[in-house]
Amino acid sequence: MFEQLSRRLEEAMKKLRGEARLTDENVADSLRDVRRALLEADVELDVAKSFVAKVKERALGQSVTLSVTPGEHMIKVLHDSLVETLGGEAAEPNFPGNPTLVMMVGLQGSGKTTSAAKLANHLKEKRARRPMLVACDVYRPAAVDQLQVLGKKIGVPVHAEPGEKDVLAIAKRGRQAARDAACDLVIFDTAGRLQIDELLMDELLKLKKELQPQEIVFVADAMTGQEAVRVAKTFHEKLSISGAILTKTDGDARGGAALSLREATKARLLYVGTGEGIAAFEVFDPQRMAGRILGMGDVVGLVERAQERLDQGEVERLGKRMFKNQFDLEDMLAQIRQVRKLGSVMDIVGMLPGAGKLKEKAGEIDEKAIVRVEAVISSMTKQERKSPKIIDGKRRARIAKGSGTDLQQVNQVLKQYDQMKQMMQQFSKMGGKMKQMQKLMGARGKGGGMGGFPGMPGF
Ligand code: GDP
Repeated sequence: MFEQLSRRLEEAMKKLRGEARLTDENVADSLRDVRRALLEADVELDVAKSFVAKVKERALGQSVTLSVTPGEHMIKVLHDSLVETLGGEAAEPNFPGNPTLVMMVGLQGSGKTTSAAKLANHLKEKRARRPMLVACDVYRPAAVDQLQVLGKKIGVPVHAEPGEKDVLAIAKRGRQAARDAACDLVIFDTAGRLQIDELLMDELLKLKKELQPQEIVFVADAMTGQEAVRVAKTFHEKLSISGAILTKTDGDARGGAALSLREATKARLLYVGTGEGIAAFEVFDPQRMAGRILGMGDVVGLVERAQERLDQGEVERLGKRMFKNQFDLEDMLAQIRQVRKLGSVMDIVGMLPGAGKLKEKAGEIDEKAIVRVEAVISSMTKQERKSPKIIDGKRRARIAKGSGTDLQQVNQVLKQYDQMKQMMQQFSKMGGKMKQMQKLMGARGKGGGMGGFPGMPGF
């Protein structure tokens, strides 16, 4: 996400690199580029203007200390202004009340139903809440079904009345059902339309009047840019939304929505959706988002993700096997599966510093290659994975056929494995140093972030 915006901002800042000090002129010059970059990223014009004015005032108002160059100073000012615009300090929203009533609103396809389930799951897992989901989207044919399926998956009760069209009645009965079940959080998935229309707004308004929810959460698709802001404004005017969730930040959104949403509605950005899976949901962090926009990376986010999604026990086991030189193809498969839990290569690269440039390189990485390696190893028998030496020409042909690849690709996987094995042998030979390395890579320590993650040659 945001790579284009980060690249443009990087370029704008580069102009200041040769300058000895900041003047009205060179600041104005670089800010013109900043403004253009923001507009290109689909930031709303008014937001871009007021943002640039804020940056200018700060840049000229502060004296540049001797230890930093004007370019660095500008980046800091830009970063701080972004953080401020995005909402300042990160904080997990606390949804007070018993029960807390939350209405999810937004256009169809924005990710409302998915986010309702993600939110329920998040608050259940992280805050020990007892949520219930109420299916009030009676117009999109599959929405009720979808919520029921998701509820089942995360172990959260869903109040749904398939066939019933009276939204108000469903909501009231849902609220009662939540009380009866001693749930302390009720999330209402409301209807969306492809575009805003009066009927939809009226219905939501009635629902709001009836429920008097503590929170009205607007769900916005990060991919829709400026359009999302226009929609948010309308929802805000009618319903006065209290917070927002930005979905699909894993896609190649241009980044405008994140910046403009908050300015347009003053509602807090609460969470971001970072993928289709239920766990792809994070507390919104202005600092981190600003870092990503500026191409400064999000290493903290990456480490957190590793801690959350990776099976630490498994990582530790793989690390140990690697250092004992016992790593076989079975382990390589397990390792690939762990890596894939972190997200796509593009997604991971996007979180590293200098993402803008790295992404161009990563674009050359064939995401499917990783899937192919998985397919090839999956097509081997257990015995073959344990002792790859037995894989002769005949077996190779069978594996190629079974995995839908070809002989060359099977050979390549085996070669990669061999290279890895050789590398590990060298590690083992390093004797005393090995233990040190083992420690470094976290094969022992728990919660060691990305630690213990064996390198993957060939990717
Ligand atoms: P609704 O009509 O607003 O209820 O939208 P849905 O919840 O059905 O979501 C629409 C589509 O977007 C589905 O295919 C979701 O899987 C997908 N989606 C939702 N949130 C995210 C996200 O954060 N990232 C990605 N990549 N897809 C998402």
